[in-house]
Amino acid sequence: MLIGLVGCTAIMIGFAYHDTTQELHGLFTDNLRRMAVVIRGQAFPQSQLVNGAPELSHEELEESYVIQIWNSKGALIRSSTQEINLPLQHNEGLGTQKIGDSIWQIYTLKVPNAGFIQIAQPKEIVATMVGESAFRTLTPFIVLLLMLSAGAWYVVGRSLSPLSTLSQTIARWEATQMRPLPIFDAPQEVQPVVTALNSLLAKLGKAMNLQRQFTADAAHELRTPLTAIKVQLDLLKRAQSDRERDEALNRLSEGIDRSIHLASQLLSASRSMAVKTMPDFQPVKLNEIIRSCMATFVALASGKNIEIAFEAAQECRIKGDEESLRVLVNNLMDNAVRYTPANGKIDVRLFREDQKAILEVSDNGPGIPEVEKNRIFQRFYRVPGTASTGSGLGLSIVKNIAESHGAGLQLSNGIQNKGATFRVAFNLPNSDNAISGAADA
Ligand code: ADP
Repeated sequence: MLIGLVGCTAIMIGFAYHDTTQELHGLFTDNLRRMAVVIRGQAFPQSQLVNGAPELSHEELEESYVIQIWNSKGALIRSSTQEINLPLQHNEGLGTQKIGDSIWQIYTLKVPNAGFIQIAQPKEIVATMVGESAFRTLTPFIVLLLMLSAGAWYVVGRSLSPLSTLSQTIARWEATQMRPLPIFDAPQEVQPVVTALNSLLAKLGKAMNLQRQFTADAAHELRTPLTAIKVQLDLLKRAQSDRERDEALNRLSEGIDRSIHLASQLLSASRSMAVKTMPDFQPVKLNEIIRSCMATFVALASGKNIEIAFEAAQECRIKGDEESLRVLVNNLMDNAVRYTPANGKIDVRLFREDQKAILEVSDNGPGIPEVEKNRIFQRFYRVPGTASTGSGLGLSIVKNIAESHGAGLQLSNGIQNKGATFRVAFNLPNSDNAISGAADA
């Protein structure tokens, strides 16, 4: 467009320059001729009689100058025409006079000790000549403007048409449609945007599938405890003795507890899926999070006579989401307390290793069979034959939270090669200014 613009403007300026110079040359020549004819009439009044001498037409006479010579007493000595009576202007210079219907522009020249010379011309003639000349000068630019507008309309319209096709395609899509946009149809400049959009669409599609799957699984899992509640309720209605009624009530209460636990695990799971992303993380003190979670489990563990210990050799500050980290620690400790039999042992350790903050929760419970080690992190998966009540969501929540924090999650054997150890390795920030060496047990 720039090349077209510069080219067209150069051509038009060339035309305009040529036209204006021609016009002005013509104007000057014509004025000279008219002046000569008028003055000839003054200087040689008899010359009109000579054959072949150039004459002014009637129209030309009307358009031409009127020249007058006045003496110093204010009497008109000579005039180029008898038809127009211009009064004498005693002030030297340019002035205007209305004579008949037209306004005249008069220039008066004072000749000392001799008189005055006046040259006049109708003002509208001057205006017409100036207007015509200006119009002819402007014509090429008007043509240029029209040509450029048409060119711009065509070029811009043509290059943007794939973009409008693209936006029409997107506008027609349903909210659930996650097909990638056709990249080859898009103009080159827009291709990076289309690529970015496609990758966003792919992520959105994946997230939507996960949500759909999660809702379906959740509904399926909730059905089991709710059906159990319904069964216990029927048994309660049909109970014949107090003993049967108490038994049914106890089971009902357990069923409700299970449903409450499942609902709260579902909530945590859904939150862990939508956990904040790294840029929103704040510095948090892992030691304090773990210590505050311990309080709940110490009481639970003492009920089963389980010895529970927390050892933090160094203070570890990481960047993370405090609420999610609390959920992670709670789930690991809850599992350890639930699956470790009475009189067992649980060790919670926090330490630094290779620019990482390591959290280990170990127990000497039944441990996890080798074949189940990968499956236990799947949603709703429980090792077959697991006695303790649960939803199968805890470890999948832990995995989600660890992933969103960029932390590694490993499972190995527990205390004295018995039981299980869950190890989460968080990245320590580079500018970590944590105070090391503070023992906390
Ligand atoms: P839930 O505990 O609700 O069943 P989880 O996702 O927390 O669900 O755990 C999945 C399975 O992994 C459990 O069913 C259990 O069999 C096994 N598991 C988890 N933690 C331990 C542990 N500390 N010791 C033994 N088994 C465990």
